[in-house]
Amino acid sequence: MTENFEKLPMIALRGLSVFPAMILNFDIERPISVAALDQAMEGERRIFLLAQRDADIEEPEERDLYHIGCVAYVRQILRMPGGAVRVLVEGKSRAQLNRIIAMKPWMEAAVELIPEEADLEHVRLREALMRRTRGLVGHMRMLLQGNGPVSGNVDGYRDPGALADFLAQNMHIPHEKKQTILETVQPLRRLEKMNEFLEYEIEVLEVESQLHQKTQGRMMAAHRESILREQMRTIQQELGMDEEQEAESEYDEYRSKIEALPASDEVKEKLRKELSRLNHQGMGSSEGAVLRTYLDKVLELPWGKYTEDDFNVEKTRRILDEDHYGLQKVKERILEFVAVKQLAPDMKGAILCLVGPPGTGKTSIGISIARAMGRKLSRISLGGVHDEAEIRGHRKTYVGAMPGRIMNAMAQAGSANPVLLLDEVDKLGTDYRGDPSSALLEALDSEQNYAFRDHYLEVPFDLSNVVFITTANTTSSIPRPLLDRMEVIELSSYTDEEKLHIAKDHLLPKQREKHGIKARQLRVSDAALRAVITGWTQESGVRTLERELGAICRKAAVRLVEEGVPSVTVPVKELESFLGVRKYKPEEKRREDTVGLARGLAWTSVGGVTLDVEVAVIEGTGMLRLTGNLGEVMKESAAAGMGYIRSRAELLGIDPAFHRTKDILVHFPEGAVPKDGPSAGITMTLAMISALTGARVRGNIAMTGEITLRGRVLAIGGLKEKTMAALRAGADTVIIPKENEPDLAEIDQDVRARLKFITASHIDDVLHLALDFTGVRPWRPEPKPQNLMPAAPAELDRSPERTHPN
Ligand code: ADP
Repeated sequence: MTENFEKLPMIALRGLSVFPAMILNFDIERPISVAALDQAMEGERRIFLLAQRDADIEEPEERDLYHIGCVAYVRQILRMPGGAVRVLVEGKSRAQLNRIIAMKPWMEAAVELIPEEADLEHVRLREALMRRTRGLVGHMRMLLQGNGPVSGNVDGYRDPGALADFLAQNMHIPHEKKQTILETVQPLRRLEKMNEFLEYEIEVLEVESQLHQKTQGRMMAAHRESILREQMRTIQQELGMDEEQEAESEYDEYRSKIEALPASDEVKEKLRKELSRLNHQGMGSSEGAVLRTYLDKVLELPWGKYTEDDFNVEKTRRILDEDHYGLQKVKERILEFVAVKQLAPDMKGAILCLVGPPGTGKTSIGISIARAMGRKLSRISLGGVHDEAEIRGHRKTYVGAMPGRIMNAMAQAGSANPVLLLDEVDKLGTDYRGDPSSALLEALDSEQNYAFRDHYLEVPFDLSNVVFITTANTTSSIPRPLLDRMEVIELSSYTDEEKLHIAKDHLLPKQREKHGIKARQLRVSDAALRAVITGWTQESGVRTLERELGAICRKAAVRLVEEGVPSVTVPVKELESFLGVRKYKPEEKRREDTVGLARGLAWTSVGGVTLDVEVAVIEGTGMLRLTGNLGEVMKESAAAGMGYIRSRAELLGIDPAFHRTKDILVHFPEGAVPKDGPSAGITMTLAMISALTGARVRGNIAMTGEITLRGRVLAIGGLKEKTMAALRAGADTVIIPKENEPDLAEIDQDVRARLKFITASHIDDVLHLALDFTGVRPWRPEPKPQNLMPAAPAELDRSPERTHPN
């Protein structure tokens, strides 16, 4: 059955079979195999490993491959010089090749997993086979003089199939036989077969040992061997002279570096130990390479290297002002932070957390702080980090282990007291690979971080002099314990006026310089900048704006060079030739008064946005259907709105039986974005009233407010961001809850001047402001039928068009 097939990238193995539940590593070199591995790493790390019949074939085709292999999970990979990759895999399940789907750029196969059969019968046979196997393994070990799997390993197995797999993977038997074991699906049969192979091996070993005994006495052979060995030693010496010297000097170099390190004795002792291991291993061995990398990594850390601090409030103010327009409150908070540092340099300062929509300057404020303090800066992006080991390193025993991001950043900074900028702390993930936030907590906590231990480096490093600055779009998804240790500074969206200043004084000069254009060579008027802001961007921050200005610079550079003009000016009407067609048209923003369509306001991690609600009323049985990926709170809010409408039905001129005879469909467009929260309450309610009565919702109004069953309007959050979104979307009037009136003080002057605010404590207050009832024919009770036969006009009355003129 086709649905049982799994499509997986595949690697053809040479002289090797992998068994379920076994962990082993091997090297791959062929580009198609490396490509298959990369493909697996991008997905769920599952890969199909299938052995070649003939290990010498370079480009195997389907007929060169066996048909049963193993689906494995790739645990780790280590890229080696020259393109080869060492992989550590864990066998998961036997699987049969159904067909090869693709040969290039990597092999891809449809495979069918073969589940392991549980054999609950044949109890005696199973026991006998298991005992016999243990005996054979013991015998073989004896013949191999202690080599081969120890009985402890073998005794641990209770399951015959798994035992056979273990032995096939680990004993020295020819590859063809291993493959036979892999292909034997029935567990008892498999162990039986394994025993046959073991018996054969034992026989061969016995014969071999007899032969050996016979030859042992022959002096000739021994003599010959000793001569050969002697020769070999001479050759090695000849060749290895230089190498040895080199090794010695490398050893001395490490030695002196370690001794000169301004680190604690514990650290030095550990390094000496690793160095002496390296010396014993031989510098050229693969273990040697691992040890050398380790020593290099530890030595490159900024032990005892401190930059001189320059905590100076005046200078900080100057630099912050130089780099950033506006942001007064943020700058004040940062100056406070620096002032405390200036007065008490040794006091452990709080960790700053800059929170705000994308592109509002969080990262660049962080960079300015480092500059103002005269410290080195290193950035760590935490977005999508799921694994604790990414923060704190993998243990050295893992193949390809590396230090975590914190210590890497320290090495990069090159000083032990840098500013570490941790971007996107709100996007840390948590899953089965451990909790990265707890590792981060340890690094940030001034009580513990004087001796932070990376799993790979194993030695403690003092992070207590680091200034940590974090950034996030929202505090809601920052793990609580982490948030508790941080001092949150909020950055909010920019108004168009602020954007204009930022563009003029910062973004444009920066982009000009980046593109090698002098100030006199490119002029962009304020009017043109304003047009770019409203016509090509619609965002809380200034990221897109910066990109668009970059685009203008590129186009200008072409004209300067190609046309040889001395300077380029950008008039508003030619903007489209620089930036392509205008993306946001003001006329589209002006919305007609519409029945059943209202504009709400929402607050998200990317700042404020408008959120439209569409309502349609159709004949039905009284269903309230909400769509558009909504959360529970939003659904309850709609139900509350319905409660209010029912209590006011007659006053509003709605058929009081509407909740039995009509279905109400409420939809929020952009269904892919999850939405929740109570603040769309009044928007939904007004849209529903509009659809039920035929009154038009005024298009110039945006609104926000929670609603109760009785129609009271309750306070909401994020007013500042929401009002900016309203303005961006072209609204000129905003309905807000009366309870939010004090928040108006927080709102930008420019926004306040351009918007009209209507406050409401009850939805009755705003019905006639938000809805236009002109021309609406209110519902009238149907005249009671005079006789039992319904008359034609009465039927007409019931038609939906009459109830809803629109
Ligand atoms: P965030 O980290 O908040 O996403 P960035 O710091 O990357 O934002 O800011 C994007 C760009 O906008 C940067 O080039 C930054 O210098 C610039 N920028 C943002 N806010 C301001 C401001 N108030 N004054 C000057 N430039 C700013």
